[in-house]
Amino acid sequence: MAEAGKTTQQFRAEVRKVLHILTNSLYTNREIFLRELISNASDALDKLRFRINRGENPREADLPLEIRISIDKEAKILTIADTGLGMNASELADNLGTIAKSGSEEFLAGLAAADEEGTRPDAANIIGRFGVGFYSVFMVAKEVEVISRPAFDEDATAHVWTSDGLGSFSVEAALENAPARGTVIRAHIKDDAEEFLEKFRLESTIRKHSAFVPFPIYVEGERANTQPALWREPKTSVSKEQYAAFYKALTYDHKDPLDVQHISVDAPVQFNALLYIPDSAQDFFGADRDFWGLDLYARRVLIQHRNKELIPEYLAFLRGVVDSEDLPLNISRETLQENVLLRKINQVIVKQSLGHLEKMAKNDAEKYVAFWKLHGKIFKLGYHDFPNRERISALLRFNTSALPEADSLASLDEYMERAPEGQKTFWYVAAPNREAARLSPHMERFRQKGIEVLYLFEPVDEFVMEGLGKYKDWEFKAVENAADDALDAFADKEGEKDTVQPLSAEDNTSFDDLLAHMKSILGDRVKEVRVSHRLADSPAVLVSPDGSMTSSMEKLMRVMQKDDSLPVKTLEVNRDHPLLRNMLRMFKADRNDKALSDMTQSLFDASLLLDGYLKDPQALAARVNNLLTESAAWYAEVRKI
Ligand code: ADP
Ligand code: MG
Repeated sequence: MAEAGKTTQQFRAEVRKVLHILTNSLYTNREIFLRELISNASDALDKLRFRINRGENPREADLPLEIRISIDKEAKILTIADTGLGMNASELADNLGTIAKSGSEEFLAGLAAADEEGTRPDAANIIGRFGVGFYSVFMVAKEVEVISRPAFDEDATAHVWTSDGLGSFSVEAALENAPARGTVIRAHIKDDAEEFLEKFRLESTIRKHSAFVPFPIYVEGERANTQPALWREPKTSVSKEQYAAFYKALTYDHKDPLDVQHISVDAPVQFNALLYIPDSAQDFFGADRDFWGLDLYARRVLIQHRNKELIPEYLAFLRGVVDSEDLPLNISRETLQENVLLRKINQVIVKQSLGHLEKMAKNDAEKYVAFWKLHGKIFKLGYHDFPNRERISALLRFNTSALPEADSLASLDEYMERAPEGQKTFWYVAAPNREAARLSPHMERFRQKGIEVLYLFEPVDEFVMEGLGKYKDWEFKAVENAADDALDAFADKEGEKDTVQPLSAEDNTSFDDLLAHMKSILGDRVKEVRVSHRLADSPAVLVSPDGSMTSSMEKLMRVMQKDDSLPVKTLEVNRDHPLLRNMLRMFKADRNDKALSDMTQSLFDASLLLDGYLKDPQALAARVNNLLTESAAWYAEVRKI
């Protein structure tokens, strides 16, 4: 290349292809060209700073490290100037005339994929992903001049690179508009992109995409990025207020965060992170299903909003920023490496976050309870994380039968401490609320023995129990699946059981006949009618065949399969209950008594209701009314009123 003369070169074929696409088919999100130019300027300033830090002396050493953007509305020129490293003539030609081959190929492949899916290519994604940043300026400019003066070259001549983004570019010595050091980009804005000659439009784009660039950015002389990259500051120098302000800017939440974690790690991968626990719940299972992830920065330049590789789903309540020095700015050029790095970061975040929550649970129980109530629903999904199962289990909280209020919570470790000698099972009952849990007939034996039961109020809870399987060698089991003799080893609690006269041998036989009779009355609606060993106060209960799923699980499955038939279960009756004792008397006197049949039906209806099924409310109400009418008549008769 002749020193003073002008040289013109054709773009290589792949550059032409990329340029053609950028200028002709990407219309969404064109504003990101500014992010790309600013990120290049920021890179150039970073490189300069690095060399200064190593003791080198740049040209114009007193120039501040900054980015200045100015607008010439009349000439329709947008100028972006930095005082960074700059480029000499051959660097201009090399850096802006070619694309790393892999980058352009991936870019084109990415576009082809988007085409196949029928989705309109989104500039922000594709350009960000494939590192063809500089060329994105041709989305908004019909001609571009890049005028640059290198910071460290002996020969300080400024050169200008010029192109219309079509077939060729030229490089020559710059006669005007040359910076004292660094690079000036003059974009001649297209007619349909004049919005980018508006100061507020540029400022809002900068706030959105480049807010944390670590060098001052001025638009028409006014500072446009005010927030420093807080996560890179030493922890001791950041105030609570600064953490909160950054959180609010990041999330648009009006409340302060519940908690913040500031992480700086050097190995096995370098990154800084600010992770917040919001003080409000997230509709993770509804409208906000995809609205999670952390903002990923590479060297202070935003790579992706809500990146979902950085945290597992069960930490989806976390909001914040991860910034790594180890990530190349164009991370997708090294897709494989990118995955490995992100996975490593993910693992570190999981470890640190679990540790953080453990500490909170130990040192600030109140805050931990607040966390649990807001985000426990999401965090529970951690039962999937097999290697961390034990730690996650220890962080779970439950309301239980031993706690005084619906609001109180206990951990599995607390449950274990309270359990009597010999217990090796976490017993649980699934119910819509505390009242329903307490009223479950399956609970009676447990109450009698004083054995604590975990209350599961959410449908996912039973999946969690099943997924966890065990904690510290104790297994999880539903009270309704407790074997007849499961609690035999434990003594009754004082005064909990009234002693009832056992039936005579003869009555025992009659009772068996009564059971057979009840079965014939109920027919196919029950599998069997038998004596229960699990009931203390209730007259009857429906139980599933041994080893099958719990009734709440079964209900869930039925809903999913749109099956509204009634499950056929076994009806267990309480032989010591006054109702059954009187039914036995009626049965012995007249086995075909109509009232006996009505009572059997009603007993079944009530059990079905307790099990959560109400199929035929009219018939149920009619039977109850019949029984009430009869018992009112008997009552009046007996009392002679
Ligand atoms: P990338 O930033 O991913 O390398 P770009 O297309 O954005 O790809 O930029 C290509 C190259 O041009 C950069 O790597 C850099 O060497 C050079 N470059 C672009 N803008 C500037 C600038 N303002 N100052 C110095 N060099 C720059
Ligand atoms: Mg770039």
